[in-house]
Amino acid sequence: MQPQEQVKQQENQQTSSKSRSRNLLGCTRRDLEAIVKELGQPAFRAKQLESWIWDKQVTSFDDMTNLSKQLRSELTNTYALRTGTQEARLTSIDGSRKYLLRFDDGASVECVGMPSGNRLAACVSTQAGCAMGCAFCATGASGLTRSLTAAEIVEQVFHITSDFGSRVTSVVMMGQGEPFVNYDETLSALRRLNDPYGMGIGARHLTVSTCGVIPMIARFSREPEQFTLAVSLHSAVQRTRDALMPGVKRWSLLRLYDVMGEYADRTGRRPTYEYALIKGINDTEEELSYLCDFCRDTLCHVNLIQLNAVPGSHLEPSNPQRAIDFSRRLQSVGVETTIRNSRGADIEAACGQLRQRLG
Ligand code: SAH
Ligand code: SF4
Repeated sequence: MQPQEQVKQQENQQTSSKSRSRNLLGCTRRDLEAIVKELGQPAFRAKQLESWIWDKQVTSFDDMTNLSKQLRSELTNTYALRTGTQEARLTSIDGSRKYLLRFDDGASVECVGMPSGNRLAACVSTQAGCAMGCAFCATGASGLTRSLTAAEIVEQVFHITSDFGSRVTSVVMMGQGEPFVNYDETLSALRRLNDPYGMGIGARHLTVSTCGVIPMIARFSREPEQFTLAVSLHSAVQRTRDALMPGVKRWSLLRLYDVMGEYADRTGRRPTYEYALIKGINDTEEELSYLCDFCRDTLCHVNLIQLNAVPGSHLEPSNPQRAIDFSRRLQSVGVETTIRNSRGADIEAACGQLRQRLG
């Protein structure tokens, strides 16, 4: 299938799940005001609903005890609050927890909670599966089931919050799926998470990771919020990147370079490039010098990651020394670099290991 067709197909495969327009987790204060008006209720009910949803985080309309029984049952019949069911939960020795949630139409996604001191990071999915087909990614191997709604994306954060019994302090959209082929729902979820009347997480603590869907990076750079952007680069050599990431082959690295320049100019923010080191593929001297040229004199940060082994794939992680070599060279040409350790590898929760079934 051509990448163009893939993107089209993803756009068409939006959910028909009953939760799509009716789930209150995806609603703004305005939406809630319209809903209570439609139900013939006074305007202040919207604030009450908002408080039950976001502050008290109830999972059922029955728990909204300051609403009349009749209103609670009207809400129950027409709207949803949570539509996912936890099918599995695994805990890593590093404290991370991975969950498998299944929605009412059978689509399932994974999300991960990663505690660290008094912080709790959530890694959430934006699609069930992914159609981009990256060679190194377990999610890509199983194809796309469908895109998630904003409410389904937000629900994963709620799920992690309630399981840990503490507030999520940052969210990364680095679970299953490509957020920028599900742009509107992803953005709406980011806004619910950021909204002071919603979850109230600072925009800089909300990160979207894309494999490089250029038109949407341009669009993202024009959004008013200061959300954080990460781009999966994985190679600055066109032929290598085409082979590793066939879903973004239609956009050249030159165009990626240009749009990232535009992003930095417009927002003044530093994007991150994700680079998973793969033995003999993107960890050679030639690859390193292309990477230095791509990043030099631009506003960016490079995250070097060890490739996580994906069952059934012939790709292998580089020798750890390569990450050190890469980091030194990049820093010597003035490029900020971090070597990132994956978390949750023992429960297959690390980058690229999220699949639709646990096991
Ligand atoms: N689709 C988006 C976000 C989800 S993937 C994207 O591609 O950016 C989240 C991150 O995990 C991306 O940086 C991706 O490149 C990385 N990743 C995927 N498979 C990996 C693997 N096997 N080892 C290390 N990182 C991987
Ligand atoms: Fe999809 Fe991202 Fe995996 Fe590529 S790395 S297949 S874009 S989830």
